[in-house]
Order: sequence, then C-alpha cells, then structure tokens
Amino acid sequence: IDVYSTELREEWTLLLWTTVAVLVPVLITLWCSFQRPKRKVQLKDLFRKSKHGWHYTDLFNKPTYCCVCSQPILQGAFCDCCGICADEECIQRADRILSCKEIMTQSQTDGRFYHQWVRGNVPLASYCAECKQQCGNQPKLCDYRCVWCQTTVHDDCLSSLNDDLCDLGEFRSVIIPPYYLYQVNKLHRRHPDEYSKLAAVCGSGWTPVLVLANTRSGNNMGEVLLGEFRTLLNPVQVFDLSELPPSKALQLCTLLPPGSVRVLVCGGDGTVGWVLDAIDTMKLKGQDQFIPLVTILPLGTGNDLSNSLGWGAGYAGEIPVEQVLRNVLEAEVVQMDRWKVQVVSKGNYFRKPKVLSMNNYFSVGPDALMALNFHAHREKTPSFFSSRIINKMLHYYRFNLELDGEQVTLPSLEGIIVCNIGYWGGGCRLWEGMGDEPYPPTRVDDGLLEVVGVYGSFHCAQIQVNLANPVRLGQAHTVRLVLKSSRMPMQVDGEPWAQGPCTITITHKTQALMLYHSAEHTDDDDSSASEAEEPSADHIDTASNTQETVTVS
Ligand SMILES: [Zn+2]
Ligand SMILES: [Zn+2]
Ligand SMILES: [Zn+2]
Ligand SMILES: [Zn+2]
Repeated sequence: IDVYSTELREEWTLLLWTTVAVLVPVLITLWCSFQRPKRKVQLKDLFRKSKHGWHYTDLFNKPTYCCVCSQPILQGAFCDCCGICADEECIQRADRILSCKEIMTQSQTDGRFYHQWVRGNVPLASYCAECKQQCGNQPKLCDYRCVWCQTTVHDDCLSSLNDDLCDLGEFRSVIIPPYYLYQVNKLHRRHPDEYSKLAAVCGSGWTPVLVLANTRSGNNMGEVLLGEFRTLLNPVQVFDLSELPPSKALQLCTLLPPGSVRVLVCGGDGTVGWVLDAIDTMKLKGQDQFIPLVTILPLGTGNDLSNSLGWGAGYAGEIPVEQVLRNVLEAEVVQMDRWKVQVVSKGNYFRKPKVLSMNNYFSVGPDALMALNFHAHREKTPSFFSSRIINKMLHYYRFNLELDGEQVTLPSLEGIIVCNIGYWGGGCRLWEGMGDEPYPPTRVDDGLLEVVGVYGSFHCAQIQVNLANPVRLGQAHTVRLVLKSSRMPMQVDGEPWAQGPCTITITHKTQALMLYHSAEHTDDDDSSASEAEEPSADHIDTASNTQETVTVS
C-alpha cells in the first residue's frame, strides 16, 4: 500500500508541475495582450495632449538611442518636429522634460535668436560645425543638432562653438521664424503693410513655403513627407490635409506679407485641384492680395498636371526634400488657365446644370469609358458600360461640335478629348502625338483648349503608347458639344460618370498662379531668381524644345 501511495503522489506531483508549466506562459501571454491595448490607449492619450508631434514605431530605421535613459532602442516613439526619441518607459518623462520646436516665440530681449539643441540621434553623415569631423558616429547618445538650422556639433565642441546665434540655416528664406509669428500676434492692427514691415527681420528674398500634404495619396509617402518638412521648417507651416482642408490651411497666408507665399502641394492632381478651388474661394472672400503661388510634389502615379508643369508624374523619394525645396525656390511663375465645364442635360433645362472646374482635360468616349470602368472596378459596382454588347452600341455616338461658335465637320469619331495641359492619359503628349506632323503650338496660359478626336478605343490605346496621332480638330477659347446619344461615359480631370443626351459648354474660368520647374536649372544659375518675378511661359511652348526641358518619368 505504501509503494502504491508513493507512486500516486509522484504522479500527482508530475501532473501538477505539467499543468503549471503549461498554464504560466498562457496566463502571461493573456495578461500581456490585455495590457497592450490599455498601454496603446494611454500612449494615444499622451500623444494627443503633447506639445510634441509623437509617432510610434515598431522598428526605428537607423541606430537610435533614448533621449532620457540613453539606452539603444529598437522600438518606441519619436517626435517628427524636434526629432527626440524615447522608449515606451521613458516617453512620459521625455514629454515632460524636453521641449519641442516652439512654433511662436519671442526672440531674446536683445532681439537675437539662439540655437535650440537636441542631443543625440543626429542624421547619418552629418559634420561638426566646429571641427568639421563626422558627427554622431559613436554607438551611444551623443552630439547635438539645432532643430531650426540643422547645424550639428560634437558634445566636446559645443562649448567652443563661437556662434551661438541661429540664422535658421540654409532654408531661412522659406521658414516662418517663430519670432515673426510672435510679432504678428502682438500687432494691434493686422494689416498687410505691417506684415511687410515685420518681414524685414526675416531677410530680403523671404518667400515662406506652406506645405499641404495629402496623406491619402501615394501610399504612406505623404506621412513621411509631413515628418521631413516638420523637421526642416516651422511645424506651423506644414499641414496634413486629412486633418485640415486647404481652405483652412491657406488662411495662414493672410498673416504673411502679400505676394510672398508659395504653397507646396504634396498629392495627386486631384489634391492640386482641391487646393486651387480653395484659392478661388479666397478670391471670392476678397483675399486676392494673399493668394499664394502653387507648386507640386506629385504623389501616386500618372499625374498629368504635375508632369505638364515640370514636376514629374509621381514622386517616390528620388530626391531628398531639401532638393525639393531648392527646386521650389528656383521655379518660375506661370499663369495656368482653368476652365468651367457646364453640362445641361436634355429636357432638364429648368434644373440647375452640372458645373465643374477643369484643370487637365475633358473627354467623352473611349478614354472616359476606361476611367469609368476602372472607377466601377474600384468601387466594386457593376458599370453600366461593362457589357461588351453595350460597348458595341456605344459606337453610334452622335456629336455636334462647335469651336468658338463655328461648327466643325467631324469624321466618324467615337470620342472627343479637350485638353488644357500638355500631358494626357498618364504621361502621353496628346496634342503632339507621334511628333511627325506639324501642329500649332500650345501653352498653359494662352486661354486656348486643344480639341482632338479618336476613332475608337483601339486608336485611343495606340495614341497612349505613341503609335498613332489623334485627329486634331482645332484650338478654341470656347468649346460647345451637343451629344445626342442615349448614355455616354464622360470625365473631367479623371472623374468619370455616365451622361445622357446633353449640351456641354467649356469656357475660361480663371488663371491660377503656378510654379514651373525646368530641369535645365543648375545650382549656380542665379539669374533665375530675378526672372521668376515675370510670368514667362515661353518654355512651355510645346512646339519648341519642351522635350528637352521637361523630365518625363
Ligand atoms: Zn529610455
Ligand atoms: Zn518635439
Ligand atoms: Zn540653429
Ligand atoms: Zn567637433
């Protein structure tokens, strides 16, 4: 009996230990997974209330050290304004003891502005301002960077650095200094003349750049750019359009000297249109004098408007943002025509007509059908035109085209495209075609639209890959198109819809002040600064040497 009971006890002990061995890790995992959301919520709360622009990352993309405990860290949070980093345990303390870039501060009583140093995690390949040796190359939290001028200096060299005054560095001409906003805020009378007087402290040639980024276009490029521009500039001049619409963001222009501001739109052609519409609203509000110049950093692909203005079809980080800012400073001013498209449906003359803004192009027929089918595919709704039988029926379009009031005799066409800009269909120079025929020159500021016809979807596809010429129907200030078919695919600036019989009238709406980037510019070309004041658009002359000056990506 004794032997039996000993055996039983041993079995029980084994069972107990096995159970413990299995249960403990399970319980720990469960406890952790309950804690994690709670911690995430706490962090989110802290991030929302913080003066820093905290972002959490699961893996830093370069060797990183906590600004509080100096330990190397793989994951944690960083501020995309001032660049401090901290592990989860230290975030709260970092938030309390470390100050961020102050968007609006008084300069010192002597009217000077001093460097604001952040220790550690200096950019790779930076050099000490004092001894000119490489900085931040030791595997620890070391060396300093000024959050405004981006100067870097060794721990040991900081005390011997002669110049503790901060001039805001290379980009002083585009940064809105915190002391400027402080002065504006103190003004008793907010008047543009006062702004211009205050701007004297910002130096001559001060052209503040506002960055408006759409984080919904081009993967997460918008997010990355927001961080990089907040690091380089005053965070107050960098806007996330998913949080604030352009109309609100542009109100910052009304606190800056009239005629000095440039807006860098980071997004697709659609985002640019959104910003241009907001600028039109400024005109309606009587804020004409504050209207900024618009420049583009295209996100996503196939941005024809951006491409036509020399900024490429899509940016994916090929050049550093510093170079983007330099390009913005060198760019030349052009006036770009914008158009009003009015669609009056037949039999609906008493209903309000559909009115749209157009920057790029209008079309009816095969290329609009492609856009519409793509749209339907994206929205996962069956398209009215997706059936091949209906596609065949659509061939019997009947158009009636008037250019500047003159009836145009049309060959048998399936589609008509009306273009304002040089590029169409995601990188095709429509009006030039294959370039083997003479064609009248076009400009974005001539108040003229180019009107072409296509024989069918095959012809349309051939044009797109530069294997055929479009049917050039002419140029006009006003285009009137009467459509008699039952239902047709139609699009304005890539936004498609199905349209019944109607009359379309395209008339000039306004001109937008845009910036044009010509790839010819080099860093030592300083004559461009003086020319930039004049709206010289001769280089957009498609008949001349555009092929050489415009970089096609
Ligand atoms: Zn730490
Ligand atoms: Zn910060
Ligand atoms: Zn500095
Ligand atoms: Zn040094």
